[in-house]
This record gives sequence, structure tokens and C-alpha cells, in this order.
Amino acid sequence: MTPSGNNNLNGKTAGQPTTLYGIGASPGITVGKILVLRRHTRKAGWYHLAPENIDNEVNRFMLAIDQAEQELVHLRSHLAEDLSDALSIIDSHVLMVRDRMIVDRTVEIINNRNINAEWALAKSLGRIKKKFNDIEDPYIRERYSDVKHVADRVFGILSGREGDPFADVDDQVIVVAYDFSPEDALRLRSENVLGFVAEKGGVTSHTAIVARSLGIPAVLGVEQITRKCATGDTMMLDGHSGKVFLNPVPDQILQYQEYSRQYKAFSDDIGFYIHLSSETMDGFRVRLAANIETLDELQTVQQFGAEGIGLFRSEFDYFHRQKAPDEELFFQAYKTLISTLAPLPVTIRTLDVGGDKFVEHLPTNGLRLDLERNPALGLRSIRYSLKEPDLFIMQLRAMLRASVYGNLRILFPMISSLDELERVKQLVNSVKDQLRDEGIPLDPGVEMGIMIEVPSAVMMADSLAQGVDYFSIGTNDMIQYSLAIDRGNEHVAHMYDPLNPAVIRMVKKTIDAGHARGIEVSVCGEMAGDVMTVPVLLGLGADELSMRPSALPFVKRLLRKSCTSKLSDLGEKILRCEDGAEVRAYLNSYLPKNYPEEFNRP
Ligand code: PEP
Ligand code: MG
Repeated sequence: MTPSGNNNLNGKTAGQPTTLYGIGASPGITVGKILVLRRHTRKAGWYHLAPENIDNEVNRFMLAIDQAEQELVHLRSHLAEDLSDALSIIDSHVLMVRDRMIVDRTVEIINNRNINAEWALAKSLGRIKKKFNDIEDPYIRERYSDVKHVADRVFGILSGREGDPFADVDDQVIVVAYDFSPEDALRLRSENVLGFVAEKGGVTSHTAIVARSLGIPAVLGVEQITRKCATGDTMMLDGHSGKVFLNPVPDQILQYQEYSRQYKAFSDDIGFYIHLSSETMDGFRVRLAANIETLDELQTVQQFGAEGIGLFRSEFDYFHRQKAPDEELFFQAYKTLISTLAPLPVTIRTLDVGGDKFVEHLPTNGLRLDLERNPALGLRSIRYSLKEPDLFIMQLRAMLRASVYGNLRILFPMISSLDELERVKQLVNSVKDQLRDEGIPLDPGVEMGIMIEVPSAVMMADSLAQGVDYFSIGTNDMIQYSLAIDRGNEHVAHMYDPLNPAVIRMVKKTIDAGHARGIEVSVCGEMAGDVMTVPVLLGLGADELSMRPSALPFVKRLLRKSCTSKLSDLGEKILRCEDGAEVRAYLNSYLPKNYPEEFNRP
């Protein structure tokens, strides 16, 4: 990448105030001059090699791999330990640079086709991209960008790199480029970089995660931004809303500077909430817990003051492994999780594969879960576990063995009938008996709960409540199944509405059914970490909200500014609304009035 001058501007927005929209990837507001970095597209030229040069070419490629690895290790060694998110991303890149998909395949292509390393690398990357494109889960699909960033580094080394693109960042600027790798984002950590904007990337990209951990405001996914502005233009960016203002007028800047001041006071203050108790102004306690997918997130759970884990999505442990894991591996993982947080509760959900989550090496008796005609309604989740009892029993054994190390709660996903719950409970009881017979200790009081995320479970909630210790409402799926909107289908994404009264009423029915039978009701879907929907869930009577760890202080702050009588009024009012727009309109007026610091935004 090199800085570009004004001559690259196509003139469309020259001098004109223009607002562009991207994805708010890292919060914060900043105004400054732009520096556009253009990455010269490195065309991977093709050339044929004489047979006697093949070994040299493989050698040249392997040396480039070595150098890329050394650069990443060097970069990592200069990172402060408190940047844990950034550290684990760089660690994963260090591992990736030697991944078989990149190295072995490229060497194979050089050898078999007698072609140069750059071209061979481009070929293997194309193949990897194709594989990622076929993955339905958007989070995993997006991980292709990491492979690409690592391969780009190797490309740069092979084809003789341009000078340091960031060397020219000597004035305070907002840096604009087509794409930034997580390592680029780390290198932008200087006082001179006010923020950055890119055409590529999404909120879950690792570049966004690094930007957040460094506290650099960033907006990603702004179409054609490198063409719409030029070095030296003025830009204001709001890394929260994802808005980018080119050539903003003085009034806009003033308004945003005031908002920025408020936001800074708000963010400085947020850390203070981590150690306060989770209760409303009138002393009503609601447990705020964390949703995590891997053990690496344990540190963040503690850092953000979670009162336990409300959802451990255990299937992610399978994604990372090359083969089906064994009981011992799971036992060790669960033991670490449970003992680290003891005496806080740790809710481990049994496998929720199928739907949009496929794991290659799981047994399926010949059935390809990814080829199911309608996977969300197919052999997903608890249905899969009941069909593959050996695997299910292995997971239950690992959990129950780990139960003696703290406060385990087991959670069963996607239960849709009493009969299904009965079959699950019978299996649990037989596993308990098995362990006792083997003389293996377990906690006899482990709580068993179910996720309520299917309409039939909502309708049967009062009966189901008699057989379990708690409910956990999975609003992500409850929305999908109640509104008949595939969570991953972009054509109907606009209809996926958490504020649809059908969803709100289902949540209420579930909470009431649980309370009538004296059990706790938690909410662990995305709604539980969204400050717009949190007051609604509280108003409907949720006992626990479980969310991504970084949302915890914001939700706690909201909770501590709430009082129960007002929340119940809000709940009642919302339950009377008849469509999503009406709910939204009500909240748009209610929230800024009751939580002015959080919701009075320009
Ligand atoms: C949910 O459905 O709301 C939930 C928390 O589970 P998942 O997102 O893993 O399906
Ligand atoms: Mg779910």
C-alpha cells in the first residue's frame, strides 16, 4: 500500500459534504484529514519453470513462509499482554502461515505444474476461498479474510515488497484503504492515527476485533471509499453507528464534537460498572452472565465482571478440532471452565450442530447434515444428540465428571416436546448411574435446563417447566422459528425482527410459565445484550440475561438506571402493541426519555 495524492479522486464527492454508511466496527468519533493508502494489486504473474529449478522454487517459497512467520512472531512479541484479543488473533495467524492448506498445497502445485510460487499460492488460495464460500455460518465464512491476510504477507515477501505503507503516517490522519489486516490495524496504533476506514471487513472480522481492543475508532465495509475520497480531504467518522462524513460542514462537526465528549465521558465511566452489583435502582437483582464459545474467552468473562456463564456453546469446541474429540479432552476443558469460575454458575449447552453449524468429523451414519433439504428443521441440535447417543453420552459423562469442580448447569438446546425432554432425562440418569457404578464422583445437584426456542416449547412451557430446573430463552432461534425467517437468509433478513409482538409475547409466555412453576428464566439470544431490547426483557420479567462479555458493563449500567415499576409499565405497554413498528416507535420515544445518556444520539 502507498499513500495516494488528490489525483485519484474521481471528483464525485470533491468538496461536497457526503455521508457514507458502513459497519461501526470500533466505537469512537473522530475528525481529521484523510490519508488514502492504495494497495498496488500484486498480479501473481505466471511463469513456467525448468525441471531443474523446481527445488529452488519450493525453497524460495519455504523461505518466504519462514520470514512471514518470523515477522508475525516479532510483531506478537511487541504486544502488551493486556491486548489479549489481538494476541490470540496474531497467534492464530502464526499457526495459519504453516497450515497444510496453504503450504502443502502450494508446494504440490509448484511440483506438479512446474510453475512459480506466487502463481501456485494464488491457486491454493482460490481453492481455500471456494471452500469458505460454501460455509453457511457467516462468522466462520468470514475467517477466510484471515487466511487471505496471511497469504498476502507471503505474497509480499515473494514478490519483493513495497516500502512500509505506514511510514508516511506522520501527521494526525484518518487512514483509508481497501482492506486492513489485523496486523495492519496493530501497526496503526500510533498517536498519529485517529481512526481508519476500509471497504472490506465486518463487525466480527479480526481487524474489527483488534481495532476495538486498541480503542481506535473504525468503520469497515464502506463501499468504494477509496475512490470517493482523496488524501487531504476532511473526514468525520462515527465508529459506533458506522457513519462516515466526507467534507463535513462546521455544524455537523460541532454537533459530533459534543456527542464525542459525551461518548468519552460515557466510555470512561463504563469500567466503573464492572465491579458494581447488577441491580435496579430499587434493589431488584438480575444476574448478568456471559455467552462464550471457547475457553480463550474466559479472561474476558472475568474482565467484564460476568456473574457466571449463561451459555457455553460447546459445539465450537468441535469446530477447531481435526477429529472427533474424546471424553478426556472434553472433561479437561469443562473442568477448567467450571473450576476457574467457581462458585459462579457455568451453563454448558450440549451440542447444537446442524442448522447452519456443520462439523465435518462428527458421526452422522452416512447422513450429510449440510445436504439436508431444510437443515434448520432437520436433524439439528438435541435431535442430532439423541440420534447419536454414544457421542451424547460421551459429552454428558465429561460434563458430569467435571461437575464436582464448581457450579455446573447443563443446558439442552432446541427441545420441542415433553417426550424429547423425557428421553434426554432418561439418558442423563443412565449416565449418572454408570458413573456411580464406576465409582466416579459427580455433583448430584447439577441443574438441568432447556432452551426455549421453538414455538411448540413455548406453547408447552408450563408442562416442560415441571421437568427442569430452569429455562433459557434462545431468542435468535425463537425469532427464526416463530416468524419463519431463516436466520442466515439475506433475502428475508429485513423481516427478522426481535421487536415483532409475536416474539415479545412468546418471551412473556415462557417467563410466566417458568415463574408459575418456580423456576428461573434466563434469556441468552442476542436480544439480551442489545441495549435497545434489554429494558423490554427486564420489563417482561427475565431473571438472567446472558450476552457477549463486552456488552456486560453497558447492560449493567442500564439496569442500574432502571426501576422495576417503570420496567413493568414498559413491559405491559409493549405487550399491547400490535406490530414491530409500533413497538419500535414506542421505544424510540421511551428510551431517550428514561436513559438520556445512552439514547440521545445525533
Ligand atoms: C439462540 O438461539 O438464541 C441461541 C442463544 O442459540 P444459538 O444462537 O447458538 O442458536
Ligand atoms: Mg439457538
